[in-house]
Amino acid sequence: MTRAVSVGKIIIGGGNPIVIQSMTKTDTKDIPATISQINELEKAGCELVRVAVPDIESAKAIKDIKRNISIPLVADIHFDYKLAIAAIEYGADKIRINPGNIGSAEKVKEVVKAAKERNIPIRVGVNSGSIRRDILERFGGSVAQAMVESAREEIRILEDMGFFDIVVSLKATDVKRTIEANRIFAQEFDYPVHLGITASGLPIVGAIHSAIGIYALLNEGIGDTIRVSLTGEPVLEIITAKEILRAAGKRDELIRIISCPTCGRRAIDVIRITEEITKRVGNIKGKLTVAIMGCEVNGPGEAKEADIGIAGTRNGAVLFSKGKAIGFVKDKEILEILEREIRNLMGL
Ligand code: SF4
Repeated sequence: MTRAVSVGKIIIGGGNPIVIQSMTKTDTKDIPATISQINELEKAGCELVRVAVPDIESAKAIKDIKRNISIPLVADIHFDYKLAIAAIEYGADKIRINPGNIGSAEKVKEVVKAAKERNIPIRVGVNSGSIRRDILERFGGSVAQAMVESAREEIRILEDMGFFDIVVSLKATDVKRTIEANRIFAQEFDYPVHLGITASGLPIVGAIHSAIGIYALLNEGIGDTIRVSLTGEPVLEIITAKEILRAAGKRDELIRIISCPTCGRRAIDVIRITEEITKRVGNIKGKLTVAIMGCEVNGPGEAKEADIGIAGTRNGAVLFSKGKAIGFVKDKEILEILEREIRNLMGL
C-alpha cells in the first residue's frame, strides 16, 4: 500500500478512495472565471483542482479563489521557486513542482521549508517530453526507465531535505510507456501515484487512451489519484475519470448517468439534457443509476435497471422509476424535476 498524503481535507494514497482531479483551463488571474470553472468541476464530481501559476498575480489570486471553492487546490509551478513559496503563502493545499528544475539546493530548501511549515505536499511530475538531456543519453531516449530515473532524482532531492509528503506522476504521451514507467516505479517506491496520460488529444481520442492506460494500472493496484487530460471542456475530464474508476470497480458509489444514442424516434434533446444533468448532479455520491432516454418506445424498457429516468414523449417526458412510468414532465421542466427527484431519492 502507498503512504497516505493529506491535501487539505482529502487524503491521497494509503488505501483511500482514488481521488478524481482536474485542472482549470482559465487564466488563473481571472478570478471570477476560475472560480466559476472550479465550481462547475466540483458539481460534476471533481475532488481536487489544479491551477496554473505562471506569475505572481496568479499566485496571489489563489487567496480569493480558495475563499470561493470547497475542494482543495493545487498550484502548478515550473522553474520559479518564488512562485512556489508565494502559492503556499496564498493558501495552495499542494504544489506541483520539480525540484530539479528550480535551480539550486538553496532554492529547493526554501520551498521545502515553506511546504513543511504548512503541511503542504509536493507533487513531482515527470513527463516523457521533459526529461533531462543527460538522463536521456544514459537511457537512450525517453524510455520508461528514463522517466523513473527522473522521478528517482527528484524524490532524492526532497528526501535528502527530510521531506516525504510526496506524490509522484509519470506521464507519457502514449499508453505503453506510461504503464511501463508506473509499473517500475510502484515496485520501488511507496509514494502515492497520480495517474494520467499527458496531452492525450481531443475528448474522444484522449478518453480512449486515458481509459486504457489508467484502467490497466488501476487493475494492478497502481494509482491513488487520476487526472484525465483532454483537449476540451474540463467537465469532460471528470466524467471520463469517473467512468474509468467505475469500470475498474474502484468508485462504485458514484452516481451513474446513462443515455440512449438517440435516433429518428427521439422526442427530447437527449444530448443537452444528459450533459446538463451530469453537470448538476455529478458530485452526488450514492449507488444510483439515472437514465435519459429519447422516446417512450424503447426508453423505459431499455432502462429497466435505472433507479430513475425520463423517456421523451410529445411535449415533454415520462418520468419513470425502475422501468415503471410514475408521471409526466413538461419539456421546460425536465431538468428541474429530474434533479429534484434525484436529490429526493438520495435524501438530499
Ligand atoms: Fe431511439 Fe428511443 Fe432508443 Fe433513444 S430510446 S435510441 S430515441 S428508440
